Amino acid sequence: MTIVQFREECAGSDIVLSVTSSKHFRFDNSYARLPSRFYTNLEPTPVPKPGPVRVNSGLADLLGVDADWLTSGEGTRLLAGNAVPEGSEPLAMVYAGHQFGGWVPQLGDGRAILLGEVIGRDKVRYDIQLKGSGRTPYSRGGDGKAPLGPVLREYIVSEAMFALGVPTTRSLAAVTTGEHVFRPPEALPGAVLTRVAQSHIRIGTFQYFFSQQDVEALQLLTDHVIARHYPAAAMAENPARAMLDGVVAGQASLVAQWQLLGFIHGVMNTDNMLLSGETIDYGPCAFMDAFHPDRVFSSIDQQGRYAYSNQPAIAHWNLANLAQALIPVLDPDREKATVLAQGSIDAFPDLFQSAYRRGMARKLGLAKPEVDDDALAADLLGLLAREQADFTLAFRRLAELALPGSEQGISELFEFSGAFDPWLDRWRRQIEKDALPVHERQKLMFQANPVFIPRNHLVEAAIKAAVEEEDFSVFNRLVDLLERPRDFEPGLMEFARPPRPEEVVAQTFCGT
Ligand code: AMP
Ligand code: MG
Repeated sequence: MTIVQFREECAGSDIVLSVTSSKHFRFDNSYARLPSRFYTNLEPTPVPKPGPVRVNSGLADLLGVDADWLTSGEGTRLLAGNAVPEGSEPLAMVYAGHQFGGWVPQLGDGRAILLGEVIGRDKVRYDIQLKGSGRTPYSRGGDGKAPLGPVLREYIVSEAMFALGVPTTRSLAAVTTGEHVFRPPEALPGAVLTRVAQSHIRIGTFQYFFSQQDVEALQLLTDHVIARHYPAAAMAENPARAMLDGVVAGQASLVAQWQLLGFIHGVMNTDNMLLSGETIDYGPCAFMDAFHPDRVFSSIDQQGRYAYSNQPAIAHWNLANLAQALIPVLDPDREKATVLAQGSIDAFPDLFQSAYRRGMARKLGLAKPEVDDDALAADLLGLLAREQADFTLAFRRLAELALPGSEQGISELFEFSGAFDPWLDRWRRQIEKDALPVHERQKLMFQANPVFIPRNHLVEAAIKAAVEEEDFSVFNRLVDLLERPRDFEPGLMEFARPPRPEEVVAQTFCGT
């Protein structure tokens, strides 16, 4: 409960009334209970002129916070970091990480402040974090601020991922700051994003304490993660191993979902992988339009380390780093601990493959994934790459073809060329052998094959209107649309089409 104070004139004297309200965040912090070497306590930096952009009312409701209050002047000031709500214990978390394969011994929240944790209506504990809220001891050379463009981008893509059913950090709100952020040669409007996550504990958080040889901290962090994300592991014979198994399984399933949607994360550094299994860091990410397995978007990924087809192997590599950091808590005997770590990590390829196979079977409309279907899927992807066909529309068109006469109009945007005929014959023979009733099959396929994704050119158009013209309607329309990524209507064709040649976005930028 927060006490709201206001003044009322009464017979010439000021009376201060106190009113308790339940509109506000009800904080219940646990990370702040960990020893002080896990973070630095500090408040967000106030900004000149907080302005509301958008509040996510569905998420506010999940968190038990009044969305109207969040949109009010008081709420906006709080979301901009100009007021610290009661119960918040603001802090910046410390971590380390491998960035593009290179070890960085100390990173941390350089432009983010954790306000605290809230238990949602679903009984899940959520971090409430302000991103872009000023310098911290971990800012290195940075200014701790965020330009409006990347804030809108993260809002759009993270909420689209949520609607697509992919575990992800979420966006509770975006506000403008009324000041400029300098990203030479430009001065850009500044903004703050309120990010919500089941926690912000990264592989890099474990790596930080491992590199400091701080075994006590590693044990505390392991216990914290188990209590928060893997409660069943507490009962296991070896809780740390059970936790690691859980993280490995979660990442295998997460990256399989990325692959199945044509999502390229772009910056899979170990500090950008959460123990909770949620996607985090929407800097240079992008959804592919035309399919190619070697696709890279990030302007800073010169070597293609984080290309689409490399994502599973990179996740595996990152997990090996987590396993290594856990050696001191897996077993007092180093050799035994190494065997335990290796056993957990070795499960990744099969876990990924089976999650991917299950998901791909759904995309192809097959009830039961069979090993044979791997070739069917791989051959389709090979053709899509050769024909430079649109990934999302090709699968959506396939869903239409599962029940002839049920067309919704995707063929106006995409049709399989003659090069696909032999493959389509093979696919038809395969689904005829399959036990699913045809209506069921199509339902499954529409579910697995969304029609609306946050295409780069749509995201760019939303950002451009907001940054250049202070017109947020394009952004708001896109966020609304992406809440229902599978519900196609012909009137929405403009949002489903691939970019025109002049609209193609070839590169994305961290924009930090
Ligand atoms: P990222 O590329 O977003 O994963 O960030 C990598 C590291 O750089 C993290 O420690 C961030 O906190 C830090 N960082 C990124 N942008 C800024 C900024 N504008 N100011 C200060 N630190 C930043
Ligand atoms: Mg990051």
